[in-house]
Amino acid sequence: MADPPLLSIVVPVFNEEATIDLFIAAITPFLDAIDRDWEIVFINDGSRDSTLKVLRAAAAAEPRVRALDLSRNYGKEVALSAGLDHVRGRAVIPMDVDLQDPPELIAAMVAQWRDGFDVVLAQRSDRSSDTALKRGTARLFYRIIDRMSDTPIPADVGDYRLMDARVVAALRAYPERMRFMKGIFAHVGFRTTSVDYVRPARVAGDTKFNGRKLFNLALEGIISFSTAPLKIWTYVGLAAAALSVLYLIFVIARTMITGVDVPGYASLISVILLFNGLILTGLGVQGEYIARIFAEVKGRPLYLIREEIGARGVSVSPPAPARSFPPAG
Ligand code: UDP
Ligand code: MG
Repeated sequence: MADPPLLSIVVPVFNEEATIDLFIAAITPFLDAIDRDWEIVFINDGSRDSTLKVLRAAAAAEPRVRALDLSRNYGKEVALSAGLDHVRGRAVIPMDVDLQDPPELIAAMVAQWRDGFDVVLAQRSDRSSDTALKRGTARLFYRIIDRMSDTPIPADVGDYRLMDARVVAALRAYPERMRFMKGIFAHVGFRTTSVDYVRPARVAGDTKFNGRKLFNLALEGIISFSTAPLKIWTYVGLAAAALSVLYLIFVIARTMITGVDVPGYASLISVILLFNGLILTGLGVQGEYIARIFAEVKGRPLYLIREEIGARGVSVSPPAPARSFPPAG
């Protein structure tokens, strides 16, 4: 088996026929300038256009380009995990294919890594290429998750980063099926530094993330990395009970002073409606967690690979086996 390459670039792609060749052409000179020993691993995340054909041609033209074809669209988080399970480099860099992660930065990241850092984050020093709405919601999301999660998740950091092979090995040990990679990346720790950059706009094609997908990703992040939404109901319940006792004392006192109190439909119905609303909300939050427990307990494989393209005859490590539940032994 060949020595591991110095650098592995991991690139999830979904309907990206227009961008893949541009990406390879743009990044190759930067990689060659650092070291000629690198690999690019594309993960075809169930694309419906000719992405797979473009990847085959790219792998045939350049032996350092490989691709994994997933059995369907799993979403970027899972596609990235599939890639991380299959790279062999001594340093690994996940990137978007649309050149929004500028390849100029790789040299600076590699320099920090050679200085002894295990993780080099690419931190966006300015988000002006995003819409005002995306900027505002991103800021709100980082504020909320910072308050609620015990794992500090760095703001304005995407998946673009350099990771030492040790960090990637640690990531492979995270068996969860509900994946929020930014959080998992932050959770592993290791010696971390960052380099700043300004994020450019996409070179070609369209964004694959709409508002709904981003909202779900944010919810996933909060629920996967915090139990605060569950615990808050203890306090809501206690506060409601305390207020109810006060109100009860007031009602009893008033009845004793002014006699039997029959009217009260308005206050009764308001209290019933308010508390039913609170109870249903609390149940819904519990449901979010139970649904995730259910998904984890089923222990289904995180992804399925249809085909490996251009693997240079090198055996690749299979994805981590599903945990048995309850744990054996
Ligand atoms: N992507 C993916 N699977 C998906 C959605 C996106 O692999 O279901 C890839 C996409 O091809 C790109 C990267 O994730 O390489 C980032 O997507 P995009 O540029 O659309 O996101 P944005 O930059 O708009 O947040
Ligand atoms: Mg993009």
